[in-house]
Amino acid sequence: MTRTAADRRPGSVTARVPAKVNVQLAVGGRRPDGFHDLANVFLAVGLYDEVTATPADTLTLTCAGPDADQVPLDGTNLAARAATALAARHGLEPRVHLHIAKDIPVAGGMAGGSADAAAALLACDTLWGTATPRSELLSLCAELGSDVPFSLVGGAALGRGRGELLEPLETGGTFHWVFAVADGGLSTPAVYKECDRLRDASGQGATTADIPDPEPSPALLAALRTGDPAALAASMSNDLQAAAVSLRPSLAATLAAGKEAGALAALVSGSGPTTAFLTADAEDADRVAAALRASGTCRAARTTTGPAPGATVLANTL
Ligand code: ATP
Repeated sequence: MTRTAADRRPGSVTARVPAKVNVQLAVGGRRPDGFHDLANVFLAVGLYDEVTATPADTLTLTCAGPDADQVPLDGTNLAARAATALAARHGLEPRVHLHIAKDIPVAGGMAGGSADAAAALLACDTLWGTATPRSELLSLCAELGSDVPFSLVGGAALGRGRGELLEPLETGGTFHWVFAVADGGLSTPAVYKECDRLRDASGQGATTADIPDPEPSPALLAALRTGDPAALAASMSNDLQAAAVSLRPSLAATLAAGKEAGALAALVSGSGPTTAFLTADAEDADRVAAALRASGTCRAARTTTGPAPGATVLANTL
């Protein structure tokens, strides 16, 4: 189709992107480079950020939402880094304004920054008409951070290596979740460091020589495939949970409150401090969320479902 001058009027593109929970996060020993190999089973869930890209003279950023004051608005923002990387790939200047409507808790273990990077890539690719092939978008995502490729893809996936080697997983139904948002965040590197410290302190050691290679749980993959919440609850695990609770002991009370209220399983989401509760159905999710709010052990409790689709262009007013 021929583009007219009217088509080229400055407009904007909005991409929506989900948060994630790790239904399994198996952490290998510390590698000589300081990173850890993972067996990371991601599930995208229906808490979303939206990134709107609008033409501008230079790269600028704004952010709105309950945690907006904790989001950096300079070149360290992952959405800004994504726009810069995409522009460089195509020999362009990143002349764009990015607005982040933020609903994913910041530094909450739900990959909010990674989500914004994936949304910014998709929105800018559409705005600039650069039509980057999906495989190239995925490799840009992997360069930006180990959780970014999953934010683009969504659904459910197994991440190996540092989490960036993704294999999509089949899911057999919708799972019902409650997320308890904590006050303040936890730094992901600090949680890995605490995991190493706890492993050393227990006498088992913390290096790849001491810890078996992380492997996905066959029972967990089967539970995802069949859509069976009780089987998923019985097989979920997070090797970072002890470290997150050690750094934030109050999480133990949140986990206990959700379980007492009838959640099938409770676990820390990724590196925390958000906690995740799997329930049998939507009614149970509402009940668990109400009990968590009443318990006074969290800032907010949100119900949602997963799997959710990956980054998607919602609105395009070009
Ligand atoms: P993960 O689950 O991937 O470990 P997280 O959910 O714990 O990440 P993020 O919300 O991604 O954490 O934020 C981690 C830090 O990254 C923040 O404290 C903030 O300083 C920085 N950051 C950079 N860009 C963003 C962004 N777009 N949104 C939120 N935080 C960002």
